[in-house]
Amino acid sequence: MGAQDQIKQIRLEQALERIRVLETIIDGKEHEINDLKIKVNEKRANKDVVSMMLCTLLSEIDEEGGEWFTEESNLNKINRLQSLISTLNSKKNEAESIAEMKSSFLANMSHEIRTPMNGIMGLTKLLLNTRLSGKQNEYLRAIESSSDTLLVIINDILDLSKIEAGKLSLEKKEFLFINILSSVVGVFEGKALGKGIELVANYHQNNLPEVLVGDSVRLNQILYNLINNAVKFTQEGSVTLAVNTVEMSDKDVLLKFTITDTGIGISQEQQSQIFNEFSQANSSTTREFGGTGLGLSIVKKLVELQGGSVTIVSEEEKGSSFIFEILYPHKKISESNIPVSNDSLDFNLGGLKILLVEDNPVNQLVVTDLLSEVGAEVELAVNGQEAINLFNPEKHAVILMDMQMPVMDGYEAIRRLRNGGFDVPIIALTAHVSEVEMEKCKSAGANEYLSKPYKPQELYQKVIQFINAKEVLPLAFNLADVNTVSLNVPKLWDRNFLLDYVGGSEQLMLKILDKIKSEIPKYLEVLIAFNSELNSKKLGSSCHKMKPNIQMLGNTSIYNSIVQLEIDARSNDESLPLQEKVGLLIVKLKELLEELKA
Ligand code: ADP
Repeated sequence: MGAQDQIKQIRLEQALERIRVLETIIDGKEHEINDLKIKVNEKRANKDVVSMMLCTLLSEIDEEGGEWFTEESNLNKINRLQSLISTLNSKKNEAESIAEMKSSFLANMSHEIRTPMNGIMGLTKLLLNTRLSGKQNEYLRAIESSSDTLLVIINDILDLSKIEAGKLSLEKKEFLFINILSSVVGVFEGKALGKGIELVANYHQNNLPEVLVGDSVRLNQILYNLINNAVKFTQEGSVTLAVNTVEMSDKDVLLKFTITDTGIGISQEQQSQIFNEFSQANSSTTREFGGTGLGLSIVKKLVELQGGSVTIVSEEEKGSSFIFEILYPHKKISESNIPVSNDSLDFNLGGLKILLVEDNPVNQLVVTDLLSEVGAEVELAVNGQEAINLFNPEKHAVILMDMQMPVMDGYEAIRRLRNGGFDVPIIALTAHVSEVEMEKCKSAGANEYLSKPYKPQELYQKVIQFINAKEVLPLAFNLADVNTVSLNVPKLWDRNFLLDYVGGSEQLMLKILDKIKSEIPKYLEVLIAFNSELNSKKLGSSCHKMKPNIQMLGNTSIYNSIVQLEIDARSNDESLPLQEKVGLLIVKLKELLEELKA
């Protein structure tokens, strides 16, 4: 061998050595090419790196050219390397198209599941408002709670897939922080009370930012999952939600949330596992407490998506603390960022004419009945074309438009209505939940968007918001109509809510109303006495007693103020403006009592 050949040989050896190095960094499937063993992980992106490095190697060898390159055995090696590269490339394309199929499958699944769920949940709600025997009522309540549970599981699975596919986008909207905290605590009060454990909200409204900018739904989901677990895995003692401000500048606030329980605790070994999907500490807890093992992995991913991290401190049989921090932009409360209160649900639509465009017979029934119950008149079109034919700007105040329909879909119908110069408010109804879908509806010309399955209140709120927002939106009907169609005298209690609460029995409802009417003066007595006695313990326990009664009346604003007053009264914090809040509550309860008497 001449000197030149020797150099080529050394270069080739060096090249082969680099391929061997590649072998050690890539795990997975083994490809054997003569003396070359290349392991390629088909799932991971580093196959691109392999492919790129092999290309570089080949071009280096190519540059040497000459006789060595034409030798048959060497040529074979090169050919096989090249065929490996093309295999890798086609695997890569295959993997990409599988990922694409997966995400469109998910989007479709989400649509396919949500549509029938909307029917099941909506019809159950409607059935619950009819006259039922005790047994029928019991069975329906079971259907209602099973479908609620099923929806949570479906949403968890879809959420997790969405996060994994990188498709979950977070909202950036202003929200009242204290509302999120008190409503999530409120959800678990009954459950904690039923188990005989104490649920403590350890935070002071005065030390917290008023308005945060971010995704309130996801914050609620994180807190809900953690408090739900804490209550689930605690048999005696307490569950505490503590919220602290770690750092606050004019613009941002770093918040620390700690959910502590005195429950069964988690061993060191299990602590490293429980954030993995489908992972539960042990099979006996699954049998005893149920669950899917998805909650904590979603919590971890949601916190991380918002730039934070979750830690656990736990000891078996003593209890656990889950701690996470998130940085939020914050603002002071102002007229523009006070969310519309649920009180606006106390209403009657007094003959408001709504055009419903929907092809699914079950959803037709649900929406028509829900809206008729609150006094609206619903006219039905079964597809976009029929909607265009039927729409009458003199008559229809709002259009509810399903987006997926045969003959002509909602997007096309909305576009045509807008091109025809009609500016009637249109609320798009869709089973898709993504921001992309929302944008699609809005860019077609819809004013609002409601994703299935929606609760009756959500539907009402969207319609009501529209009527309220009439003056600011360029809508089709004139202001004179507003006074006749919208908001009759607002009620401080919700008859349907209470009737629903007592399983549809008018008789029971009237009895409960009588009872509440006789209780309110007693609450008022304690509240009035507080101003002179300043006995916050008595105040706290009185709030605790009145809470469930007021809750039954469906007035969330009064209910929330009682919940917060109880928290404040029990906190022993003298700096809190208790008297002021008591004063406001006295006024509200008096108004409520007047209305109940009327
Ligand atoms: P799920 O509760 O649906 O099983 P999670 O992902 O929320 O799923 O929780 C996973 C597991 O972690 C639970 O099954 C339980 O074993 C354990 N775990 C979670 N929170 C607590 C807690 N507060 N106390 C004790 N164990 C807990």
